[in-house]
Amino acid sequence: MTLSILAFFSLLMLIAIIFYGYGFIMRSTKPALQNDIEPCAICKKQFERQQLVEREIGDSKLMYFCKACVIRLYDDVSKI
Ligand SMILES: [Zn+2]
Repeated sequence: MTLSILAFFSLLMLIAIIFYGYGFIMRSTKPALQNDIEPCAICKKQFERQQLVEREIGDSKLMYFCKACVIRLYDDVSKI
């Protein structure tokens, strides 16, 4: 009886460790994915960072612009 209770708790511990490890992996991979995605400063749509034009505004603020918004800006400038 004691042995089966001990076996049950060790199995419970093993499951808890597996879930903890899985959660740790999920936490360590998720921010890496989110870091590559930024919203466009104009249309607020989410894009991968390599698809965006990056500009530093002021001293430290980084802003990202998508291709469609840059083209729209270019079209607006050509009308001036
Ligand atoms: Zn945009």
